[in-house]
Amino acid sequence: MDDIEDRIFDSLCDSEQYLPILKFKSQLRKAGLRETDPRLAETMKNLAQFQRSVAEMEGVHSIHLDRDTFRKCVGDNIILISKAFHNNFIIPEFQTFCQSIDDLYWKVKSNTNGKVASYIPQLARYSADFWGVSICTIDGQRYSIGDVNIPLCLQSISKPLTYALALNEHSPDLVHEYVGHEPSGRQFNEIKLNADDKPHNPMINAGAIVLCSLLKQGSNLADRFDYTSEMFKKLAGNEHISFNNSVFLSERETADRNFALAYYLREYKCFPKGTHVMETLDFYFQLCSVEVTCQSGSVIAASLANGGICPITGERILNPYSVRNTLSLMHSCGMYDYSGQFAFDVGLPSKSGVSGGVMLVVPNVMGIFLWAPPLDIYGNSCKGIQFCEELVDNFNFHNYDNLRYTQRKQDPRLQKFTHRANSVVQLLFAAKNGDITALRRCYLSGLDMNLTDYDGRTALHVASAEGHTEAVIFLLEKCKVSPFECDRWDYTALDDAKKFHKTEVVTILEKYMSTNPKQQDNSQQK
Ligand code: GLN
Repeated sequence: MDDIEDRIFDSLCDSEQYLPILKFKSQLRKAGLRETDPRLAETMKNLAQFQRSVAEMEGVHSIHLDRDTFRKCVGDNIILISKAFHNNFIIPEFQTFCQSIDDLYWKVKSNTNGKVASYIPQLARYSADFWGVSICTIDGQRYSIGDVNIPLCLQSISKPLTYALALNEHSPDLVHEYVGHEPSGRQFNEIKLNADDKPHNPMINAGAIVLCSLLKQGSNLADRFDYTSEMFKKLAGNEHISFNNSVFLSERETADRNFALAYYLREYKCFPKGTHVMETLDFYFQLCSVEVTCQSGSVIAASLANGGICPITGERILNPYSVRNTLSLMHSCGMYDYSGQFAFDVGLPSKSGVSGGVMLVVPNVMGIFLWAPPLDIYGNSCKGIQFCEELVDNFNFHNYDNLRYTQRKQDPRLQKFTHRANSVVQLLFAAKNGDITALRRCYLSGLDMNLTDYDGRTALHVASAEGHTEAVIFLLEKCKVSPFECDRWDYTALDDAKKFHKTEVVTILEKYMSTNPKQQDNSQQK
């Protein structure tokens, strides 16, 4: 009996029953998977081993697999591989989607607004031209373009991660004894507390510094840093995480404001009892100095999009409620003083940092990491903001975009033809059954009632052939469909009604066609 391995093999093999390895790999790539994906490790290892053994025996590097070898090579990872071949990932037409991302990347590249941050001297060294975009979906589909392998400091992008880790360790009630939920409406490093004498939220300096004191409270600083950076690494699917010591030193050297803030927080008893404030501040600077690349950053974002499970390792790192709370506050407070406008325009949780990074999350779909150092007056990456706006202008990712009826925007979660195919099926079944309620629903939802299936059959053809007089009247009178449409055999609905001896329908159609003759400029388009 054929199983999934056989079916994949049959769909790809040549007439001699051999499958070129490159063809197999390129199909996986087209679905968005990388050869380095940990979930494909066994398959890639088996393929390499096979190629090596053939090379040793025959002196040639075999590039073709027979059926048996293919089965042996892919067996360990067949679930993921079959998902890729069945187009069952969250973004089914991944290549088309990447093409749009490419277009956006190049469009935004010409944006030369903004200034590279200079208040931490080491940050001023980033080139203003760096521009990278990386995407990782909740199924681990990857795409990157531009400067995506250069390490950059997380800076404030560490704040939502600190918050998520605090929530993962303590209850939300406990965490929010120390920090509020509201946007501050102030600069990120302002010396200001809310009416309860707490920092306004975890996404500004005051909040993040206090939350640093909640992470692994009993341990020494070295262990706390190890724990946190290990968690970051796990969120990033073990991809690039490093520490930039010179940024850390440079920041500590020049951070008068953060020192002032820390003393102010201590004065107002914002820290848990026993907190070593200077150590906590060091910890905060260290977390700001953790580096990611756009690539690894996109995996972190994808872990947040995926409820705390890293898509490329399958490991649960954070509990889903910690992630949900983190995304909520990223949504309302993540983009400094621009957060309200950003929530309005883009409608997605995100967090920016003074290094020029933007971590954007499309919940249940994908994580995106953008990097371009020049910042606007709010401290957000100019290119990053433009990219987010353009993205949501193209795709219905805004939290309040309507997924059913938004016509202008694309939904990359659907296959190109799924939407139309679903509509046609719905419509033609309603016509076949003479189901006026269902037809009315289609009509009211704005569906084109002249839609045809692959044979050019309209709802009117089907209803006429079945003799559903009421449906025919509804389609003609209410929906104003054209009775002159021809299917692929050149038959009109009237021809069908005659063929199947539906005399009542014949009368209705003839009468309607004579009183509403076909007009040149009125002819419906298929
Ligand atoms: N380390 C920076 C600071 O505390 C982080 C600020 C930021 O990215 N906005 O000033």
